[in-house]
Amino acid sequence: NQFEEDDIVSVLEDVCMLMRSQARMNDIDLVLESDMEAFDLYCDPQQLKQVFVNLIKNAIEAMEEPGSITIRVTNEDDLYVDVIDEGPGVPDSLKAKLGQPFFTTKDKGTGLGLMVTLDILESHRASLTIHDHEPQGSIFRLQFRQS
Ligand code: ADP
Ligand code: MG
Repeated sequence: NQFEEDDIVSVLEDVCMLMRSQARMNDIDLVLESDMEAFDLYCDPQQLKQVFVNLIKNAIEAMEEPGSITIRVTNEDDLYVDVIDEGPGVPDSLKAKLGQPFFTTKDKGTGLGLMVTLDILESHRASLTIHDHEPQGSIFRLQFRQS
């Protein structure tokens, strides 16, 4: 583990660069929106990249039609990073199961991505909540405490 002060916006730019070709192959635009040009966060950037790769992969896999995935960074006391897709959303009955080891709805899924993600977020004192996105899709919202 390598914790350091790092600019989360450029970490996200790196991840988007990495994931954009996979998104394009699925006719999906990967858009990064940030309130701030830069934001220093005490984090392990390699692990955080893993988190965002997992979330973006899931978003791409969820979307059956062309559209966009938006990564939105906002700072209101705490730092929030929302990963917003236009897929079918997560049924309420499944929300609590996400992140349990080996829970997957995919034929070839491992059900490990969100488990690893939650683990990494815990070491960052960050939390993940899942919300519905109107008219369609879901929002995976990360909250990094700034205290
Ligand atoms: P895997 O991707 O291998 O299935 P994950 O832990 O990454 O494992 O995800 C677990 C399950 O959570 C997925 O199988 C899917 O049912 C659900 N899920 C995750 N992300 C999304 C999303 N963006 N939209 C809808 N369902 C999702
Ligand atoms: Mg996954």
